[in-house]
Amino acid sequence: MTTAPPTHRPAIAVLTSGGDAPGMNAVVRAVVRTAIGAGADVFAVYEGLQGLVDGGQRIERFGWSSVGSVQHRGGTVIGTARSADFRTREGRRRAALHLLERGIDRLVVVGGDGSLTGTDVFRSEWPDLLDELVEAGEVPAEIAARHGHLVIAGVVGSIDNDMVGTDMTVGADTALHRIVDAIDALASTAASHQRSFVVEVMGRHCGYLALMSAIAGGADYVLIPENPPADGWEDEMCERLRAGRAAGRRESIVVVAEGATDRHGNPITSGHVRDVLAERLAEDVRVTILGHVQRGGAPSAYDRWMPTLLGHAAALEVVHAGPDHEPQLIGVRNNRVHRTPLMSAVERTRQIPGLIQAGDYRAAMAARGSSFTDMVEVFDRIAQANDEPSGGARIAVVHGGGLAPGMNTAVRAAVRFGQSRGHTMLGVQGSFLGLVDGRIDELAWGDVDGWVGSGGAELGTRRAMPRMEQYYAVSRALENNEIDALLVVGGHRAYQAVHDMHAERDRYPGFGLPVICLPATIDNNLPGWETTIGADTALNEIVTAVDRLKQSAMASQRAFVVEVMGRYCGYLALMGALSTGAERVYLHEEGVTLADLSDDVARMVASFRAGRRFHLAIRNEAASEGYTTEVMCRLFAEESAGEFDVRPMVLGHLQQGGNPTPFDRVHATRLAAFCVDWLSAQISARTGQWAFVGSDEGRPTAEPIRTMADLVDSALARPREQWWLDLRPVMAALATEPDAR
Ligand code: ATP
Repeated sequence: MTTAPPTHRPAIAVLTSGGDAPGMNAVVRAVVRTAIGAGADVFAVYEGLQGLVDGGQRIERFGWSSVGSVQHRGGTVIGTARSADFRTREGRRRAALHLLERGIDRLVVVGGDGSLTGTDVFRSEWPDLLDELVEAGEVPAEIAARHGHLVIAGVVGSIDNDMVGTDMTVGADTALHRIVDAIDALASTAASHQRSFVVEVMGRHCGYLALMSAIAGGADYVLIPENPPADGWEDEMCERLRAGRAAGRRESIVVVAEGATDRHGNPITSGHVRDVLAERLAEDVRVTILGHVQRGGAPSAYDRWMPTLLGHAAALEVVHAGPDHEPQLIGVRNNRVHRTPLMSAVERTRQIPGLIQAGDYRAAMAARGSSFTDMVEVFDRIAQANDEPSGGARIAVVHGGGLAPGMNTAVRAAVRFGQSRGHTMLGVQGSFLGLVDGRIDELAWGDVDGWVGSGGAELGTRRAMPRMEQYYAVSRALENNEIDALLVVGGHRAYQAVHDMHAERDRYPGFGLPVICLPATIDNNLPGWETTIGADTALNEIVTAVDRLKQSAMASQRAFVVEVMGRYCGYLALMGALSTGAERVYLHEEGVTLADLSDDVARMVASFRAGRRFHLAIRNEAASEGYTTEVMCRLFAEESAGEFDVRPMVLGHLQQGGNPTPFDRVHATRLAAFCVDWLSAQISARTGQWAFVGSDEGRPTAEPIRTMADLVDSALARPREQWWLDLRPVMAALATEPDAR
């Protein structure tokens, strides 16, 4: 032991371990900056737990700028490894010595269940390891006494999304992007040749990636470990593919998780699936094993902002923890940071393979969460081509308001799910005014084929809503077309129109039917469901555009003000800023003053003088009436003291374009199925209620449309309460170095 800790400041270390996962860098960045902001010394450990065993240069002191511009990078910039040494007590003794040399007794570990278990073993052994080190004369007793406890927190980095205690693991959303991109690409070539593809995806014990990619990719059949198919599944699979072809599908896709088995525990390989299909359907079948592509590439927007929140929370957790602190897994539940005792989460996760082996599939799926179980059923219903609907009602789907990626996905799911319930599904062309004009078509299972991943809106959408004098015509159209229920897929204008029509419903006989609104707008400015369909796609478009912008600007001293959509809602701006590591965000919710701008430009000048090469501000399009993007840029340029130049960048409509992300596709499917079920129940009960989709602990609910008036600031077209505003302190804590604040 050569060096003693210079002060009593807390010292923490962060490491990434086990398999790498996109998004780990965002955790590391957030841990480092948050801990510095909280007054701690921060170290990064290279090459995972092996780095602790090795010590030396593998444990490096990190400053604020050590983690500049890392969020957009795939993998982990501090390396990861599997460490045989750390599995030994001697290895862990050396690890303890190397931590004590630097006064570190707080650790944030980002890894899978193995890494978290290993770290917890290390924590429980810590006092004994210290005794040994003191006895051997390697550590002075007073140093050991000062660091008598090791405080740890875990963040799950794993593309598999296989951990109980968190809705999502870091990297899973990005892996889903990679898989769904591949399925989209395969689907187009498969359709050209009327071929079948078997796609094998990762997931030894967890079918999350397989199930969600099958839903988002519009696959026909999926095989997952938690829900092994019953005997005779080969017949069922072939029958389903045959029925799909008969209903007009040109390609067939079967997704197989690498850990899929039958009910006797025999592995189901992608090769076996191919052989079965080739033999029984007598057609050309190809296998694609996606492999490590699924781990690679730039993190998705979600895998930038969510790990940022987790890293921030984990750093605060360990910096402020006392000696009797119980180790926590820092995860996410319903978009909020959620803490669970670390080892109970690991143990419950490890029980799942046992449940599967014991044939308790229901419990295995339940352990994955309610949405997983729901989606297994939804997938089975929408993937199966139906015969002619019978005995059901006539349910119409209509869009309203601006375009949102995922609208087509929602219509497809509603049509197929509705048909599976026996309903006749109708598509209204051209929004509410199309309804008045009678532009209504029956949509069959095959009519919506290929809609799962297409951007835009096949049914068309308009911002114009019926005026009060047109209500009579709307009512007549509903009656004339014998529509029993209406599903409205749209944004604020559609919600408002439904709300206003509801207020007049007693005057129009055609308004006696049940109606539900499904939230679809990139703005995320609706009450109820927390992330509207389309917002994740828009956020990914923003993140991709800013990545390019940063690359283009790195060579010069430049500040950018990037203007994003959202109307008066700052969701895209704030989440865009969190995801891209912007220095500043301008929101209408906070307002912008001249004093703010003056402070900002002074900070910019100082930071460019100190060597910064790039400054990024994200501005909501309606953040301020007077301080427009253009005005801001001129003001910054004028006051730049020659240190940097300034460019505006208005992202505009590309935010509404693009194909929906996996997240938007999965949610659109889930919510459409919920809405159809709710409408079915209302039709049976003859209630004629009007509602919009709400949320209870992450499950969709139906909220009375009349409550919208209380929940929404109608002048600003945004909810009065916006959950994501609570994330502003995280953004602020990570954007500016404490000394420069
Ligand atoms: P992934 O989910 O990607 O496999 P993981 O963290 O579960 O990630 P593992 O290989 O299981 O990956 O574990 C990573 C490292 O954690 C191991 O190489 C080992 O150093 C350490 N480790 C795992 N289990 C233990 C244990 N029981 N005791 C000590 N160390 C362990």
